[in-house]
Amino acid sequence: MAETIFTKILNKEIPAEVLYEDDLALAFKDINPQAPLHFLVIPKKPIATINDITQDDRELVGHLSLVAAKVVAEHGLAEQGYRTVMNCNEFGGQTVYHIHLHVLAGKPLGWPPYTDKIKQHLE
Ligand code: 5GP
Repeated sequence: MAETIFTKILNKEIPAEVLYEDDLALAFKDINPQAPLHFLVIPKKPIATINDITQDDRELVGHLSLVAAKVVAEHGLAEQGYRTVMNCNEFGGQTVYHIHLHVLAGKPLGWPPYTDKIKQHLE
């Protein structure tokens, strides 16, 4: 798998605002936040896309959701609700090819999450 910007963040070669870290995962604030709290949870193991997740990764991928819930709860935002999203490939809007769970919290979130640009593409 080609190295991504997230490998550099994992290796502390570029800075990030880290919210949680353990042996398996890292959570850090998104550089371009779309909600009052917007962070990414990534596995330390590099996996390019959801399509590359294997049976061996089941616990690891589940762990990303547990980290998401823990960090949101620490911010006191769990009960009001939040969203987790993992984009896959071009049509899913993926731009960094190291899987990451987006976690958006702190405001009501619209649904569906289409932008006008994507709407035009679909019509
Ligand atoms: P994707 O579009 O792949 O689902 O999401 C990639 C996310 O990574 C985007 O929300 C983008 O703002 C974030 N991102 C890209 N580069 C960096 C970076 O260098 N640092 C941080 N903290 N976030 C980044």
